[in-house]
Amino acid sequence: MIDSHSHTMYSKHAEGTVDDLVCAAISAGIEVLTITDHAPFPVDSDNRLLETELDRYFEDIEQARQNFRGRIQILSGLEFDYMPGTDEYNRNLQSRYDIDFAIGSIHYVRLSTGELVRVWDLPRLADPDFVDHYFDNMEGLLSCGLFDAVGHADTLLRGVQANVVDQRFERLLPLFREYDISFELNASGLRKSSFDPCSGAKIAGLWSYPSLGLLPKLISHHTSFTIGADAHTPRDVGAGIQEMLNVLQPAGLHTVSYYERRRRVDVPVNRLRPDASTRKPIA
Ligand SMILES: [Zn+2]
Ligand SMILES: [Zn+2]
Repeated sequence: MIDSHSHTMYSKHAEGTVDDLVCAAISAGIEVLTITDHAPFPVDSDNRLLETELDRYFEDIEQARQNFRGRIQILSGLEFDYMPGTDEYNRNLQSRYDIDFAIGSIHYVRLSTGELVRVWDLPRLADPDFVDHYFDNMEGLLSCGLFDAVGHADTLLRGVQANVVDQRFERLLPLFREYDISFELNASGLRKSSFDPCSGAKIAGLWSYPSLGLLPKLISHHTSFTIGADAHTPRDVGAGIQEMLNVLQPAGLHTVSYYERRRRVDVPVNRLRPDASTRKPIA
């Protein structure tokens, strides 16, 4: 099993040390774990690593690698924020550390009014001005060349109709292959609440993302995929990944990838499903 998106207390809105996360991952049967805490970013300092903490973060990961050698493969990553005009800041950070995996995600979108809306402000997501800026920013993220994968690109499904997301995504589909960036299948969409714009209610326990509508289109555009639970607590590491693969494999997903020293490693999905007769260890 692979989990390529996970957080520790370094992200500040998440809990557990690096060792806590790794122990939980071993218990959950994960063989390749990538730790991807939120990278420093000028928009705030209380939801992410600070620049002054980066050395310690990577030292903790290196220490865990040694402590748990032979039991799990641990890879170091960061989840970067993307907004227009932030390439220089992110490029500079990347030049200072040798990481295995760089996720680029959109968590904040600046509207035409100048207001900053967060992707978890669910009632705001269907606002056409938000949707316009989100997809313009997504095009910038995909084409900037700084990231190995885009994190939860379809998170808008928590508050926007699937047909709107599918239609807006259409022009972006060729860019994954063109710019050599993977689409992340993020299993937190199986746990997180979504918002019904008709009733105004928050709904729990509904599969919002990953998008089942986009999957076949992305596959037909030769897109590569990473997988992650996006755990913010050790008990969620690996959560939902098997369930997600159980649905996505019959829908056409045959290969998933993880990144080691920024290079993509492809793994057949049937090696990750316990009921597949040919299952062999990954690493
Ligand atoms: Zn994220
Ligand atoms: Zn995350």
